[in-house]
Amino acid sequence: AEGSTLTAFAKELEMEVRDLEQVLANLGESLASSEDAVPTDVMELVGLELNVDIAVTPDLNADVKELVRRRGVVAVMGHVDHGKTTLLDSLRKTSVAAGEAGGITQHIGAFVVELPGGNGSLTFLDTPGHAAFSAMRQRGASATDVAVLVVAADDGVMPQTREAAAHIQAAGVPMVVALTKIDRENADPQRVKGEIVSMGIELEEFGGKVQCVPVSAIAGEGLRELEECLVLEAESLELMTSLTGKVDGVVLEAKLDKGQGPVATGLLKAGTLKVGSHVVVGNQYGRVRSLRNGAGDSLTHIGPAEPFELVGLKGVPSAGDSITMVHSESRAKRICEARAEREAALKSASAEPAPSQSEVNPE
Ligand code: GDP
Ligand code: MG
Repeated sequence: AEGSTLTAFAKELEMEVRDLEQVLANLGESLASSEDAVPTDVMELVGLELNVDIAVTPDLNADVKELVRRRGVVAVMGHVDHGKTTLLDSLRKTSVAAGEAGGITQHIGAFVVELPGGNGSLTFLDTPGHAAFSAMRQRGASATDVAVLVVAADDGVMPQTREAAAHIQAAGVPMVVALTKIDRENADPQRVKGEIVSMGIELEEFGGKVQCVPVSAIAGEGLRELEECLVLEAESLELMTSLTGKVDGVVLEAKLDKGQGPVATGLLKAGTLKVGSHVVVGNQYGRVRSLRNGAGDSLTHIGPAEPFELVGLKGVPSAGDSITMVHSESRAKRICEARAEREAALKSASAEPAPSQSEVNPE
């Protein structure tokens, strides 16, 4: 039960059924009747052909019963040297799961923290460099549900703090401030909080809605409070996803491994990725040969908000690329070809250089 009927899809696209049938015919696809379901990967092909974003239409066959809650995905941003990396390292160590596995986690661009007592869990994005974030921003889509704005208590609001805050606000993502390095002798949390408020961020302490959690990543202080705050923010968003619907995900990192070939790590927003399925990842395609989760376990399938490593692509995709599942290799190939053609057409159409991306030090 995938996709909507041809009639419904035509209506969605605001076009005549017979015109849509012609588009399908040109793509080498045909349906026995206009009441037959159009597979979602064929919808994507049509979208590429007509230059409309099929993904912006929410699941065309949304079955409310299929929706389940998913955990929130958190990104950490802030000025250089304000403690993003140290904070992420400390948060990673707070995970019950990581503790049980002996703390050995491979680097796959994200990790999961389970709060004790079944009090929720979070996926932290842990991508070095800015490639994934720049790419996601360019596409106007974000893998992030909640953002942590890191501000060092011994330093205060700096240029990249402002930039990061502006990006978070522009993305409409709820923010939690982590006041880091609170253990430092010269830490001045009150002064720094004043600077944050002056920046237009309405902290709870001053009657606003943004929580500010003092932390010391070095002393391990405030980490649980920060996690609890983030879980509450994510819960208030009531994040829902479908395990059975269209696969929608994003690549965090990708590389060419000598032994395994192209290896991509990423996160799903919706659907279940399975070993053996055909996938399109940006301009690359392939059949999923193996999947691992953040703990390095080899799995047959991966669900939403679970960091994964995927092997089986024919080429190396880019950070920020989207991941979709398709029914056959030939469709996967045609989608990639259509994307490459569209990209080439866009490139030749706009000879002007792309605007430069500003740095905001996301981690
Ligand atoms: P990033 O550039 O934002 O990733 O910052 P880092 O995590 O690399 O931290 C910059 C420096 O601040 C390093 O020398 C850290 O050891 C130090 N640092 C980070 N967090 C804390 C903290 O909570 N307390 C103290 N005393 N030092 C910290
Ligand atoms: Mg860093």
